[in-house]
Amino acid sequence: MKTQDFVELEEKYGAHNYHPLDVVLEKGDGVWVYDVEGNKYLDCLSAYSAVNQGHVHPRILDALVEQANKLTLTSRAFRNSQLALFYKELADISGYEMSLPMNSGAEAVETAIKLARKWAYQVKGVKRHQAEIIIADGNFHGRTITIISFSSEEFYKDDFGPLTPGFISVKYGDADAIADAITPNTAAVMLEPIQGEAGVVIPPEGYLTQVAEMCKENNVLFIADEIQTGLGRTGRFFACEHEDVRADITIIGKALSGGFYPVSAVLADADVLGLFQPGEHGSTFGGNPLGAAVARAAIQVLLDENLIEKADTLGTYFMEQLAEIPSPHVKSVRGKGMLIGVELNEDAGGARRFCEALQEQGILAKETHDHIIRFAPPLVITKEIIDEALPKIREVLNLK
Ligand SMILES: *Cc1c(COP(=O)(O)O)cnc(C)c1O
Repeated sequence: MKTQDFVELEEKYGAHNYHPLDVVLEKGDGVWVYDVEGNKYLDCLSAYSAVNQGHVHPRILDALVEQANKLTLTSRAFRNSQLALFYKELADISGYEMSLPMNSGAEAVETAIKLARKWAYQVKGVKRHQAEIIIADGNFHGRTITIISFSSEEFYKDDFGPLTPGFISVKYGDADAIADAITPNTAAVMLEPIQGEAGVVIPPEGYLTQVAEMCKENNVLFIADEIQTGLGRTGRFFACEHEDVRADITIIGKALSGGFYPVSAVLADADVLGLFQPGEHGSTFGGNPLGAAVARAAIQVLLDENLIEKADTLGTYFMEQLAEIPSPHVKSVRGKGMLIGVELNEDAGGARRFCEALQEQGILAKETHDHIIRFAPPLVITKEIIDEALPKIREVLNLK
C-alpha cells in the first residue's frame, strides 16, 4: 500500500478530528521516523513532546516487553508489584510526597481539578459547589467537556455545551490580572508554565514566581500543567524550576511514558493529595503494572542519558541558530530548552505550507495555530543532526 491508499482509508473510515500531514509513518528510531515509502524524516514534533526519550527507546522497549510478559492489568482492586516502586521513584525525582496515576493528560487535569475543588471545600472552607478556578486565556489542558469549557478557543467548545461552570479566565502573563480575579471562593490558579499549544508563549520573567506567591498569600493552590513542558523538555525537569517555583500540584503526562503507553500523573504533597478517600476517584487502567513499568524506565532514561541538560544546552543552541536564519517571513523565534516556536509574519501565507515544505526536506514539524511552527525534536538529538537540519530549515524559511 502507498501513502495515498492509507490516506484514503483514513479519510473514509476515520473521524476527521485531525488534519495531519500526508505522511504515513511505520517505523521510528531515536529522532528519526520512516514512512511507508521508505523516506526518512527528522521528527521535530516528538508527538507533542511525548517522545522526549526518542522513538522506540531500547530500554523502555525492554521494560515494556518484560512487563507485558508478566502482568499487564490488575485494576486497582488489587495491588501490583510495579506501582509502589513507581510512586517511590516519582516522589524521589519530583520532590512531591505523593502521586496519583492516570492515563491521558486530560484525565490528570480533570483529577487535579477535582482535587483542588475538594481541597477548597474540605480545607479552605469554601461553600459547597462555589469553588472557582482561575485559568489563562490561550490555555490548552485537553479535550474533555470540563476542560474545553474554559478554553478560549470558541471552535473547541461552540458545539459542545452545556459547559462546566466554575472557571475564570484571565490574561496569560499578567500577574495583576490574577490578583484581581482571586476571591474568597478561589480554589486554585491553573497555568501552563509555557503555553505550548498556544504557540510556545513564554510569560514575562517573574510571572510564575509572582503567581505562586500570590497563591500562597491568598490560600489558593497553584496548579502547574507540565504535561508538555515537564520531564526535561525545557531544560529542567519541570519548567517551573526556571523560576525556582514549586507548584502545589503539578500535572505530568506525555513523556512520562516515552511514547509507549499513555501514563499521566498528578503530583502533590500529602496535605493535598491525601484528601482523596477510597472510591472518590479512579481509573481502570490508571496505575496499571505495564504503564508503571514503562514510566519507571522512561524516567530513568531521562536521568541516565542526561537528557534534561542536553535539552538545555542543545535547545539553546538550536534556538540561537534558528534565530540567526535570515528570512523575510519570520517574525520571532522564542523558546526554552528544546521547546521552540518560530512565529511567521501575517503575510507569510500560513505555517502549513512551510511544514509541507519541511516535509519535502525530510523534517516533520507541525504548525500550531495558523502562523507558528513548533520545533521540539526528541531530546536525544545531537548537535550534528541539528547542524544538518539548519540549512534545510533555512531554505524553507525563504520560500517564495
Ligand atoms: C497535551 C496536553 C494536555 C492533554 O493531554 P492528552 O494526553 O492529550 O489528554 C494537557 N495539557 C497540556 C499542557 C498538553 O500539552
